[in-house]
This record gives sequence, structure tokens and C-alpha cells, in this order.
Amino acid sequence: TDELGIALSNIADNAGGLLTPTLRLGVTGLSRAGKTIFITALVHNLLTQGRLPGFAPMAEGRFIAARLAEYPDATIPRFAYEQHLATLSGKPAAWPEGTRRISQLRLVLKFQSAKWWTGLRGPSTLNLDIVDYPGEWLLDLPLLGLSFAEWSAEALARAQQPGHAEEAQRFLHELAATDAGGEAKDVDAERLAQSFTDYLRRSREEGALSTLPPGRFLLPGDLEGSPALTFAPLPRPTSTARRNSLYAMLEGRYEAYKAQVVRPFFRDHFARIDRQVVLVDTLRALNAGPAAVADLEIALTSVLACFRQGEANPLLRPFSRRIDKILFAATKADHVHHTSHDRLEAILNRLVASASRRARFAGAQTRSLALAGIRATSEGTIRENGETLPTLIGTPVAGERLGGVHYDGETEIALFPGDLPERPDALFENGEPVSLNFLRFAPPQKMDRNGSGELVLPHIRLDRALDYLIGDWMA
Ligand code: GDP
Repeated sequence: TDELGIALSNIADNAGGLLTPTLRLGVTGLSRAGKTIFITALVHNLLTQGRLPGFAPMAEGRFIAARLAEYPDATIPRFAYEQHLATLSGKPAAWPEGTRRISQLRLVLKFQSAKWWTGLRGPSTLNLDIVDYPGEWLLDLPLLGLSFAEWSAEALARAQQPGHAEEAQRFLHELAATDAGGEAKDVDAERLAQSFTDYLRRSREEGALSTLPPGRFLLPGDLEGSPALTFAPLPRPTSTARRNSLYAMLEGRYEAYKAQVVRPFFRDHFARIDRQVVLVDTLRALNAGPAAVADLEIALTSVLACFRQGEANPLLRPFSRRIDKILFAATKADHVHHTSHDRLEAILNRLVASASRRARFAGAQTRSLALAGIRATSEGTIRENGETLPTLIGTPVAGERLGGVHYDGETEIALFPGDLPERPDALFENGEPVSLNFLRFAPPQKMDRNGSGELVLPHIRLDRALDYLIGDWMA
């Protein structure tokens, strides 16, 4: 019925004309991977016809125009493109706030087809619907196949593992003082949910850096504080649980979370995506060391399990999947010299190898690309001990430090970023650490303007990403 709804509104939109093809492009990745920047840069470059030599419709002079259009479904938040652009081009320019929930945006692209038979009709139109959502939400797919008892057993076993001891301590302590078979009280549910959520957040940010479900506990979107998120795993009470027990209450909430939060997300949003970009902050993990890389690999594997399509994943079967292309992108490539970009792609390729294989097996094409939605550095060289070293030039954001130096957010520096290993195997097989000089840079403060006075946002390989993702629909 949702498909029908969309189809009907499409027809209404196009009354009198031909049905406009619509491509739904999903953009995901774990928190801070770079989704907001990627989308803002992509939209801006299309709207202003930025420097996109690797994007065939532009390179071939067939691109006519892009404009933003009203999204047909008024109930989904709109991607705050204008606000994000304003923050990025403010004085001083700053990074906007990242993705917290699902949002969408529709671009209407007008172009001349390269095929003579469609070209005869005059310009063609494509609706590009961009769907931005937290990668953490994909962690919830396995929950659909687990009962409360099964999920609790798994989650509690994990919390008791030595690697989780420190982060889970308070939660386990409170659990020990709780009688699951006792009378249900909201305060108990809230207290447990709170300490369980703290444990999940801390495991991601400090401890083992694991990314554990439920995904909405990490990024609640609009559901923060609602009863559907106020539950925690509980051991099954020894006596048969009474109907008004705490156990029964949390079991009910867990089921509600699945039915009212997880399932609708997969059915109404995820299942309708045609193409997907998965953004990965590979460099941050490389910089944090082999344990962080191993952990990112695990987190990505659970997130990317959702791209095992159709038959292979029985939980997805009801949502009839159809993604035909997935782009894995290592973001923030402007943190390394361009001579390392191919190596960064090779490392990402290794990181997503198993997910990628499964997706291809299910019939989707995949590709890995290193890119920067917005390039915050330029390149130069310095001479040190008779050697010429490639450097990055940029302004580290206030509070960053490296080698005992504290940055104030205003000083431009030249930095030797370090090299990535030539072969990713060194990293994955021998756990060899990479020595990178990694600093967060502020967005560029001075940007060029085009003939119409619009900003030209510098990027790395965004044009190749676009060409891979939508080029064939504009052929
Ligand atoms: P989200 O949580 O996935 O939406 O992540 P964001 O798009 O908000 O990105 C998180 C942070 O990463 C930003 O605030 C920037 O500091 C940084 N970042 C993202 N993309 C780029 C990029 O292309 N270049 C640089 N230098 N930094 C980036």
C-alpha cells in the first residue's frame, strides 16, 4: 500500500506528462562517518553544476539543470540542506551537526540523454530521492528474528564478557539488584534502560568500540525517552513470570520496539532504496590502531548484513529487496595526501570484503572509493633532512593536539600526514599499526565562487561517486 501511495503521488505529480523515473539513493554509515557532509556536497555540486569532470552527464555537456523539489511524502523530515550549507559557508565556516535520524530530499535533474531515440523527445527528467539514515539502525535487523528471551540471553552473555566488564559494570550491578519476576514499575524500567543505554554508548565510544544493538539506543532519532526505547535485557525469572511482572513489561516493550520501530523502518524506508552509499570513516580507525580497525570491521559486518539480499537473509524476505548497486566510500580522504588515495581504497575494500562478496552474490554491483565530500586541506611539500615530503595544508579545529602542540582553531599549518601501507594485508594479517598524523581540520574558510556568485565546494572524487551511483540513469 505504501508503494501504491508513492506511485499514486508520482502520477499526480506528473499529471499530463510522462511518468518521471525516480531513483531512491540511500546514504548511510555509522555516526560521524560523513553522511551529512557527503549529501550537502553532492546536492550543492549538482545544483550549482560544480567541478564534476568524472560525472559523465556533466563532462559530456548533457547536464541541463538540477532543482530541489517538494518531497511527495510530507511525514518524513526533510534533509536540512540549506542550514547545513549556511553553517559550512558561515564566518567562520564550521561543520554542521551530523545525522541523528532519517531524512529525505528530492532533486529533480534535467538532462539530455545520450541515446538518440530518447534524445528525440527533448530533455529527460530524473527524480533523485536522497534518503539519509543512521547506519546504527541497520543493527536492528537481527532483532526481528529474536524473542525477548533470546535477545536477553545474547545481550547479557556479551555484557558479562571480560572485554565489556568496565562499561557494563553499572548495568550488571543494577540488574543484580532487580527482581525480574517482581511487580512492574516504570521507575525500574527507566533506571535499567538508562544504565543499559550508557553501557552501549560507552562500549562504542571508549571500551572495545563495539557497536551493539538496539540501534535506536545509540541514535534514538525522534523516539528519545519514549516507552518503546525504555527496556533492557533481563534474565528469565525462575518462577513463571506473572502478567504484571517487570519481565512481562519489558518483553512487551521489546516487542513493541520491533513491531512499531524496527519493522516499519525496514519496510517503509530501507526496502524501497534502489542504490546505496555506505560511508566509512576508515582513517579514524586506522589512526586509532589495529584494535579499532578490527572493531570497525566487526561493526561494519553487522551493519552490512542487511545487504545480504532476498533469499540469503530470511528476515529481509518480507521486505522484497532490490538494491542493485552499493558504493562503499572511505570518507575524509583529504586527511591523507593524494598519493595515498588508492591505498585508502584498497584498505576499505579489505574492510568490507565479506559484505561486498555477499552483496555481489545476491546480484548487486559493488565498488570502493576514497573521497572527501568537502576538501578541507590543500597539498604542498616540505623539505626535511634533505628529503622532500608531501604535506597537507589546513587549519586544525580548536582543541586538536598532536605531538604536544595544542591548536587554537585559527592557525594554518603544513603537516606531513604519513603514508598508508601499500598492501592492506600488512594491516589485516600482521595487525601492523599505521603511523598517521591525523588532525581534524576546519572546513575551508575561503572558497571560490562561480560566474553566478555561488560557492564552489572543493571535493575529492565526489564526481566519480556520482557517476557510479546515478550516471547510468542519465545515460
Ligand atoms: P554523520 O554523522 O555521518 O552525518 O557525519 P558528518 O557528515 O556530520 O561528519 C562528521 C565530521 O566528520 C564532520 O563534522 C567533519 O569534522 C568530518 N568530515 C566529514 N566529511 C568530511 C570531509 O569530506 N573532509 C573533512 N576534512 N572532514 C569531514
